[in-house]
Amino acid sequence: MGLCPLHADRKPSFLVDPGKSLFYCYGCGRGGDVIRFAEIYHDVKFPQALALLRQWRGLAPLLQEVAGFYRVQLHRHAEAVAYLRQRGVRSPELIEHMRIGYAPGGSCLRAWLMQSGYPLSALRQAGLVTALGYDAYMHRIVFPLEGNLYGRSISAAAPPHRFLPGPKGGLYVWEQARRYPEVILVEGLLDYAVLWQAGFNNVTCALGTHLNARQFQQLCDGPRTVYLSFDADANGSGPQASQRLAHRLEAHGIPARRIVLPVGHDPNSFFVQGGDAGQFQSLLEAAQP
Ligand SMILES: [Zn+2]
Repeated sequence: MGLCPLHADRKPSFLVDPGKSLFYCYGCGRGGDVIRFAEIYHDVKFPQALALLRQWRGLAPLLQEVAGFYRVQLHRHAEAVAYLRQRGVRSPELIEHMRIGYAPGGSCLRAWLMQSGYPLSALRQAGLVTALGYDAYMHRIVFPLEGNLYGRSISAAAPPHRFLPGPKGGLYVWEQARRYPEVILVEGLLDYAVLWQAGFNNVTCALGTHLNARQFQQLCDGPRTVYLSFDADANGSGPQASQRLAHRLEAHGIPARRIVLPVGHDPNSFFVQGGDAGQFQSLLEAAQP
């Protein structure tokens, strides 16, 4: 019960029922749900009220809507499914688990979201639509992250990795991975995908070899052994990065082991080119500090 924001109120007459998400004012007699409140308070019609509420709730509901739209597109575009197959992603459970989608490009996302009441300015601000009004993600496999959206190009002509402006967030599905006493850390989501599909559910992904402060803290948030499985690049950048990270983890009391893949491989290519769970398990057991 409080002062009514909708009329000049002297003693509290505005009642909110948080359980039912409803309000009622004994002074001015108005009541309804949060959308009704926004309509009266801002003197706007239903669609504008909805758009305002969405803006206030931040990026999360918008990204959820985007992920949902892209998931529907995945099964409508043969090129996307073919790309996933080629990268070893086959199981429907995995596609469901990672909520994998596809961004066809053009302006289909923009059209869909504007029809749902999102203003163009909000879509531009989120980085989903370019200055020219096109969808920012084109011909990309899309993976929802916490507070961001990773897009992997299916065409070699475009830069392979893309994120929305803003932080990439913490470790991928950390809440699930952190329960295990041994955690496998990989660079890319397609590495994560093939390992999860092969039955390694204790895997997480940093989206690159450089961990941000939050990701590093997460790895150190409990007693566990971390197995690093970065790309075995011929130029040595992956192995160097994993060596540095292993030292940092050890310095924080977290035992780290480095998985040595055949040169030129990452976990994804290892499985795509015939490696199986048993072989990866052997690499895991042979991993060195
Ligand atoms: Zn009132």
